[in-house]
Amino acid sequence: MADPEGKSEASSDQIPGPSVVLIEDEPQIRRFLRAALTGHGYRLFEAGSGEDGLIEAATRQPDLVILDLGLPDLDGLGVLARLREWTSVPVIVLSARGQERDKIAALDGGADDYVSKPFSVGELLARMRAALRRRDQVREGAAATTFVVGDLSVDLAGRHVLVGDKEIHLTPIEYKLLTTLIRHAGKVLTHRQLLKEVWGPAHTEDSQNLRFYVAQLRRKLEAVPARPRYLLTEPGVGYRLAAES
Ligand code: CA
Repeated sequence: MADPEGKSEASSDQIPGPSVVLIEDEPQIRRFLRAALTGHGYRLFEAGSGEDGLIEAATRQPDLVILDLGLPDLDGLGVLARLREWTSVPVIVLSARGQERDKIAALDGGADDYVSKPFSVGELLARMRAALRRRDQVREGAAATTFVVGDLSVDLAGRHVLVGDKEIHLTPIEYKLLTTLIRHAGKVLTHRQLLKEVWGPAHTEDSQNLRFYVAQLRRKLEAVPARPRYLLTEPGVGYRLAAES
């Protein structure tokens, strides 16, 4: 934090960082996040209840919302539903470890991502960066035509999949599953979301089918399929394609 140039001069030259509304009733977690996020240049607005959070989100029009699912007044999922009535702002939910059902409901309800308590600041900051990056890509309408992470590169225009310099042959379903994950790279997708996007709305319960194709993709793309680097499992929730390696 030491700034030899003097704080005021530096801050007047800087573009203000992204703004965040934090909706969280626990004062310790708010204090911890206040230090971490403001220290990383975010402008933070806090709310201790769901109702206050909805008001803060509407008045501040933030770049990102962090939403605790366990709030004293409103259910966090209810707050999410009300946010989604009028805004597509990225929402990252905070949930207790083990509450897989809540996480799935939040993701299916339009949350962009989640972190489980207790979480590390590094983990939360990475999720925030990924959510903001996806939002910028959508805004610019400039989805890259080549997706690259580690040794994996996918030329979306030419439909070529490479691992290192080796071309990989994928079946149409495998390719569709991979490009669906690429469209949401860095974000966790629930089983239901993936099944709906790849196989269609009539197939949202075919989890076994999904597991089979994920295993196939890993066999073709991962150096060690049992310890994947790219196609990551979110236990009990879904899958995430790594966006940075
Ligand atoms: Ca709480």
